[in-house]
Amino acid sequence: MTTTAAAPAILWFRDDLRLTDHAALLAAIDTGRPVLPVFVLDDTSPGPWALGGASRWWLHHSLTALRHSLGGLGAELTLRRGDSVAIIAEIAAQAAATDIFTGGSVDPWARRVDRAVAASISGKLHRMRTTTLFHPDSLRTKSGGAFSVYTPFADACLALGGPCVPSPAPATLRTAWAPRSDRLEDWGLLPAKADWASGLRDTWTPGETGAMERAEAFLSHGLAGYADARDRPAGDGTSMLSPHLHFGEISATQLWHMVHRRPPGESRKIFIRELLWREFCANVLWHNPGLPEAPLKPEFAKMLWRDDRPALIAWQKGQTGTPIVDAGMRQLWRTGWMHNRVRMIVASFLVKHLMLPWQHGEAWFWDTLVDADLANNAGNWQWVAGCGTDAAPFFRIFNPVLQGRKFDAGGDYVRHFVPELARMDTRYIHAPWEAPADVLANAGVILGDTYPNPIVDLAAGRARALAAYAQIRSVS
Ligand SMILES: Cc1cc2nc3c(=O)[nH]c(=O)nc-3n(C[C@H](O)[C@H](O)[C@H](O)COP(=O)(O)OP(=O)(O)OC[C@H]3O[C@@H](n4cnc5c(N)ncnc54)[C@H](O)[C@@H]3O)c2cc1C
Repeated sequence: MTTTAAAPAILWFRDDLRLTDHAALLAAIDTGRPVLPVFVLDDTSPGPWALGGASRWWLHHSLTALRHSLGGLGAELTLRRGDSVAIIAEIAAQAAATDIFTGGSVDPWARRVDRAVAASISGKLHRMRTTTLFHPDSLRTKSGGAFSVYTPFADACLALGGPCVPSPAPATLRTAWAPRSDRLEDWGLLPAKADWASGLRDTWTPGETGAMERAEAFLSHGLAGYADARDRPAGDGTSMLSPHLHFGEISATQLWHMVHRRPPGESRKIFIRELLWREFCANVLWHNPGLPEAPLKPEFAKMLWRDDRPALIAWQKGQTGTPIVDAGMRQLWRTGWMHNRVRMIVASFLVKHLMLPWQHGEAWFWDTLVDADLANNAGNWQWVAGCGTDAAPFFRIFNPVLQGRKFDAGGDYVRHFVPELARMDTRYIHAPWEAPADVLANAGVILGDTYPNPIVDLAAGRARALAAYAQIRSVS
């Protein structure tokens, strides 16, 4: 055990795996004590929201990068696996640490953990804002309530004039004794299926350096065209920064300021508004801890969802026979990410055309997305299902064929992720069941053999969804 004089300030990393713009790290340094960086992998406290497979892959690489950056400052990252409350309390006691600094999460389970840690240590737990632009409680409606509509929420954020200027990474770090650490390699975070990992590896560079490189590349080459390109899934129309933002390898504050150094215009404005959707989802979760499990509109609890496991599996595997849906689900499986427009299409298809509970989709995304984020995932699933705050009305049902024709007009996205349809005539690529026999033959497509027949008739699925919705409306 160390003496109190040399007792370190503990820096407990959470969803903020970076050294730049890290309020908790700076506060730990400001104590003048040596800093003891710790990360805990907790698979019990989150309950059903323990990290999914794709997130585990990301975390492994992100921690490797963080360890490397800390090593450059002469600091060791202590890694421990287990119950965060017990582990943080144990390390604090061993180190005789009186101050523990950490990033405040909006996730309900993390907030419960924070309360339990604060109660189980003799020192103080300092929760700093490291993930959102603003503290959720600093954003209130004029009457002092929580926001439930996005536009006034975004306007309120903009009226604050932006978050404070990000701080640079420390040039030095005073360190001291480090407790026993697990070996990252022993955590088994990498998937057993090597082919899955190879798709992730080809697409991403987790870590603070990878995040900054992607941000700079997007701001130099993508931002100017964002307003036009962001809805087209083929091509690089969006930043693909979501996993970096989720793991906090770049802060929303850093990104906000980087964007504001670019020339003003429509694209810049829209991009900032997308960042504010992230902020909105975090805010909604902060005020509605049940968001991941239960519909915010209570009448949706009465919805007669179907139980159809084969349909769910076909959706998960990208074998629904609806090309834009299959392309999206295969992009997700191959890369751990899916374009936002296509997320909306596949989600609408699951919840409305298949009438399967949105929680099934949420759970699959949780396991397979590298950017799986409790607030964004739950908030967006509820938005698509029509049961969240400021959600799309349930009766607005995306037609996946029309969506495909509008946003993937040349069919390039489908051709890329559904190679069975690569030679299909563009006129029929989004609805191969409408193609004449000779067109199918020329493309080498045999429906029901080389590519599935549709698992649902779109018109019938739509009618079924509307009938189910009418029923909950009539009984509520
Ligand atoms: C059903 C469904 C589930 C989703 N699940 C997640 C999730 O688990 N994690 C996640 O980060 N996003 C989720 N999203 C939101 C959105 O699809 C992704 O944030 C976006 O596609 C990420 O790509 P990008 O970084 O290129 O986005 P860009 O267009 O470059 O936007 C920049 C950033 O703004 C934020 N953002 C953009 N759109 C949204 C949005 N609709 N809601 C919240 N934040 C947004 C993200 O942090 C994103 O990185 C989901 C959307 C849907 C429809």
